[in-house]
Amino acid sequence: MTAIPQERRVVTAIPGPKSVELQARRLAAVAAGVGSTLPVFTARAGGGIIEDVDGNRLIDFGSGIAVTSVGASAEAVVRRASAQLANFTHTCFMVTPYEGYVEVCEQLAELTPGDHAKKSALFNSGAEAVENAVKIARAYTKRTAVVVFNHGYHGRTNLTMGMTAKNMPYKQGFGPFAPEVYRVPVAYGYRWPTGAENAGAEASAQAIDEITKQIGAENVAAIIIEPVLGEGGFIEPAKGFLPAIAQFAKDNGIVFVADEIQSGFCRTGQWFACEDEGIVPDLITTAKGIAGGLPLSAVTGRAEIMDAAHAGGLGGTYGGNPVACAGALGAIETMRELDLNGKAKRIEEVMKDRLAQMQAKLPNGDIIGDIRGRGAMIAIELVKSGTKDPNPEAAGALAKACHAEGVMVLTCGTYGNVLRFLPPLVIGEDLLNEGLDVIEQAFGTL
Ligand SMILES: *Cc1c(COP(=O)(O)O)cnc(C)c1O
Repeated sequence: MTAIPQERRVVTAIPGPKSVELQARRLAAVAAGVGSTLPVFTARAGGGIIEDVDGNRLIDFGSGIAVTSVGASAEAVVRRASAQLANFTHTCFMVTPYEGYVEVCEQLAELTPGDHAKKSALFNSGAEAVENAVKIARAYTKRTAVVVFNHGYHGRTNLTMGMTAKNMPYKQGFGPFAPEVYRVPVAYGYRWPTGAENAGAEASAQAIDEITKQIGAENVAAIIIEPVLGEGGFIEPAKGFLPAIAQFAKDNGIVFVADEIQSGFCRTGQWFACEDEGIVPDLITTAKGIAGGLPLSAVTGRAEIMDAAHAGGLGGTYGGNPVACAGALGAIETMRELDLNGKAKRIEEVMKDRLAQMQAKLPNGDIIGDIRGRGAMIAIELVKSGTKDPNPEAAGALAKACHAEGVMVLTCGTYGNVLRFLPPLVIGEDLLNEGLDVIEQAFGTL
């Protein structure tokens, strides 16, 4: 699969001397607003390993934020993208088209939920896909309001910042935001006041009440939700919530959009996370895992909705770049051939089992308030002992301890208290367990 030995190896301090040197250059040349979780500079990556410029090999529990699900140098991605690079790098699909773009759209029609006629449009980033889903929904419904949810994340452009819930670091000082964006409650089971078992019914009733009373259903173009909320803390809306919201959208002529940018493409053990409750979205946005690390995103949906935007109304210079499309076809080929949905489900089994053991057995295991997620999108929510008070300090300290031992983990969550695990789906089970050993040991450093 890859030439990089699939083993953790820490040979210098993390970051090592070469990374420290590069970081100094970076601080002088790169804008401060662009952060890095860990200033370890990458030399190569593949399978479940990131190798840095000092020769350290880190176990990858981040996949570059859920992007390199097939690994960061998957054979089929490299082969197809390299061949495409040699043929041509760009024509602009809006100038002279090429087959790869069409083939990606065909694959999207086949893989996304529902057997209705579907079409797609391709873009470069997740935020761009979300923006275009809003454009398309507005063109189709001739309405303007957009409904999003507490703890939601949709990107960093002006419209998608406005759609994102969390202020710091995403929005602070960057307003004003686009109008006609409304945020309503989501069924966050762990923190729902009357308990997780009531969250689905109560939160959907509240959300629908707010939409009808405060916005007016007849003014709503789109309801946009992540079927598993990513940056907000790997929140799986409690059962019943998504179907109720989808049904409400259907009954009121509202375009229901699943933002599967983080949860899609085998990440949760299904091609798309909304399949879990049998949801068939009108539109679905994808990016991240779609192309094995190359920049590509898509809006896919009902043909009649997708065709509502006039010719020339959608697009962009680079949207659906031919090399990125070749990468996507390679990534999809890999997902099918290696049954990465099956692999994601196995990762869930291993991780949840080990994490539950840590929660039960570690002396400070009770700071693991919640273990959740699906497939290879797993998280622990950290709280102060004996309470549900968020414990972002523990999340930060655990991440730091893991980094020092050569395991790449990320944090997230509205309260910054969630440690999230997004290993490449191709990671070996030995590496997966070794990463979990390191996480377990990290609890001893708190
Ligand atoms: C990452 C993400 C986005 C934004 O994608 P970019 O490629 O960073 O613009 C949008 N929605 C969700 C759910 C995401 O996880």
